[in-house]
Amino acid sequence: MKFSESLIKTRREKVKEADSINADLLIRGSYIDQLASGVYTYLPLGLKTIEKISSVIRDEINKIQGQEILMPVLQPKENWQKTGRWETEDNLYKFTSYYSKTDLVLGPTHEEVVVPLAKKFIFSYKDLPKYLYQIQNKFRDEKRAKGGLLRGREFIMKDLYSFHSSKEDLDDYYEKASNAYKNIFNKVGIGSKTYKTFASGGSFSKYSHEFQTESDSGEDLIYLCKKCKVAVNKEIINEQSTCPECGNPKLTEIKAIEVGNIFKLMSKFSAPFGLTYRDRLGEDKPILMGCYGIGLGRLMGAIVEVSHDKDGLIWPIEIAPFKVHLINMGDNREVLTETKRLYEKLMKKKIEVIWDDRSESNGVKLTDADLIGIPIRLIISNKTLESKAIELKERARDNSEMIQYDNILTRIKEIVDVK
Ligand code: ATP
Ligand code: MG
Repeated sequence: MKFSESLIKTRREKVKEADSINADLLIRGSYIDQLASGVYTYLPLGLKTIEKISSVIRDEINKIQGQEILMPVLQPKENWQKTGRWETEDNLYKFTSYYSKTDLVLGPTHEEVVVPLAKKFIFSYKDLPKYLYQIQNKFRDEKRAKGGLLRGREFIMKDLYSFHSSKEDLDDYYEKASNAYKNIFNKVGIGSKTYKTFASGGSFSKYSHEFQTESDSGEDLIYLCKKCKVAVNKEIINEQSTCPECGNPKLTEIKAIEVGNIFKLMSKFSAPFGLTYRDRLGEDKPILMGCYGIGLGRLMGAIVEVSHDKDGLIWPIEIAPFKVHLINMGDNREVLTETKRLYEKLMKKKIEVIWDDRSESNGVKLTDADLIGIPIRLIISNKTLESKAIELKERARDNSEMIQYDNILTRIKEIVDVK
């Protein structure tokens, strides 16, 4: 992609409507645009990033046999009455159809859709277990939208639902999902700051778990066991003030962002819809369920909160919208020819590259590169031409290196593969 043809217009000054670092940097870098409070457009850079995050999540969920579907956002009132949530949920966007006068909900979650769906496909023990997930926009009338992408009114979520014939099978899958979550948070670069956190399990199960990323912008307080690298949330600390894994009484209070959670629903939603299966002896038994959510926008926002500096974003390589930010300094013929040659070489090798081909000053180009936060910056200038080299600087490091033309692809591959 050439910068001059892109939809990037960076901003220097702080964004007035931004109440958080992620909103400020993502808006200034042309990743997102705010339409209303808690409602954002993903611009080309932002969408590329979200797609990278989606693909990490898909890979891991597919590995634990998740099958992807796409359920409707529009959901009938009757399904919400069945579960009792039409009355009790205060975040529901409800409205009435002008023509049919029927009442509808804009889906904030999908138990009310996935359970009646499962009823059409799961009849016997032979149909179990099943794992269905989607990546889709959710709608919640949050009292206060805040923290940029951290708490929106329309936001992207991955929601996975599992269906089981026994508690043992649910327990077993729950552990697999928990491991998949660990892999996801490692791959997107926040593994070392993200803690599995014991939370209340509701009426059916002792615990559920949240995945909480340490950050001062977090809304939640969690209590971390530094030995086990697990935490408990506020509800749990009131009942039990020690580490649930090792009994350590010294837990450290930290602020954190809930990027995901996993929950054993048991028969909470299967019961109201009469979702049962026939066992080997021909008896009807309740189906047990688990649900597993990750907010993609919130995750992207959390990554920004964790990974930035005073100059801008610092994307982990796996989810950066481009791997390489190529800059020609000056626009004399040799510099332009060499930069174009490198640009085409990178494209041919399928290394995602954005070339800042604008006739802006070096200062502007460097400032923009820091703000946008692409992991590898390559510079071609009169100086580098003299030594038949390219200047390479990683966004996350201070030093730059001079790389000979012939070695550039190898060096890039090293950086991309190591991460
Ligand atoms: P919270 O306590 O933060 O409101 P929640 O318990 O309502 O979260 P779930 O309903 O379990 O969250 O949703 C699953 C995931 O979706 C959360 O872990 C979070 O990552 C994301 N999420 C929830 N609400 C929002 C929101 N308003 N904006 C962005 N992401 C959200
Ligand atoms: Mg909520």
